[in-house]
Amino acid sequence: MIVLGLESSCDETAAALVTGDRRVLAHKLAGQEAAHAPYGGVVPEIAARAHVEMLEPLVRAALDEAGVKLAQVDAVAATAGPGLIGGVMVGLVTGKALAHAAGKPLVAVNHLEGHALSPRLSNPELRFPYLLLLVSGGHCQLLRVDGVGRYRRLATTIDDAAGEAFDKTAKVLGLGFPGGPAVERAAEAGDPFAVPLPRPLKGAAEPHFSFAGLKSAVVRAAGQHRTEDLAASFQQAVVECLLDRTERALASSDGVTALVVAGGVAANKAIRARLEALAAEYDLPFVAPPLWLCTDNAAMIAWAGAERFAAGLVDPLDTPAKARWPLDPSAEAVRGAGV
Ligand code: ATP
Ligand code: MG
Ligand code: FE
Repeated sequence: MIVLGLESSCDETAAALVTGDRRVLAHKLAGQEAAHAPYGGVVPEIAARAHVEMLEPLVRAALDEAGVKLAQVDAVAATAGPGLIGGVMVGLVTGKALAHAAGKPLVAVNHLEGHALSPRLSNPELRFPYLLLLVSGGHCQLLRVDGVGRYRRLATTIDDAAGEAFDKTAKVLGLGFPGGPAVERAAEAGDPFAVPLPRPLKGAAEPHFSFAGLKSAVVRAAGQHRTEDLAASFQQAVVECLLDRTERALASSDGVTALVVAGGVAANKAIRARLEALAAEYDLPFVAPPLWLCTDNAAMIAWAGAERFAAGLVDPLDTPAKARWPLDPSAEAVRGAGV
């Protein structure tokens, strides 16, 4: 089985071909960092235009590289949300057109499901159920993954996502955009305990996350310390919050077979190392996708499409694009943020 996957929900345009037995035949990606860098964040209209320009050439390049014809593809998977609606529409409409032209089914993929199932692409031994820390630019959640399409949200952020805090920190420290990798690099030369910063909700009984207070504290401390020390101290605070919340969920999660991390922030080496140690304490395997599969890409969308297709889950051509689309629709909204 071969699935073509398309991703365009934020500022990466991507196309990939993945097989049902986990071979990534091709994955192509065009980032838009340079276009957004002058604004210090993603500008939706600039992103949508770039997706329009880049998606078709990337699809062609992926098919060429894989030596696969569109007619040989078994299904077309496209991100249908959540994300910036202009970009999502570009990818979804393209996916619908390709599916229709080839006479193949469309699989409308939730971008978060792409992140959530990506560890099963890189790690064939990973079985359901697993505890997933999904940390990305727009989300910070703990999910119990019981199967394809079966997600129970145990925790979410009550304000900002962890990735957002990394990006804001990079901005106030003048480290550029996107912020995560830049903060991580600066932190390597800094003292993680040089600057006292808050650890919001650490130790709290409720399972949720919060990063707004940490973000503001970094803004207040900027200019008063070495950049490297601030970056390292910020990263240390994030790591401690993620660890504390994850441990709380782990302690009350029966029967999970692994501790798993996914999403762009999962590319952070300090976060990976501490989670790995936590998993070992609980005698669980730790699974994290390779770095390229953590940040946005189309291989994870093709793979989620392959998993859904194998489960008989395909979607009609009038499926709408969605700006908001929670993985666990039954989860309560938490103080209006971070759903
Ligand atoms: P979402 O998946 O929630 O819709 P998104 O698709 O924009 O959001 P991703 O591409 O999954 O997010 O992740 C991007 C985020 O990951 C950015 O906030 C970026 O700063 C962060 N990030 C990337 N690499 C690292 C790193 N090495 N350390 C920390 N954060 C990182
Ligand atoms: Mg991005
Ligand atoms: Fe993402």
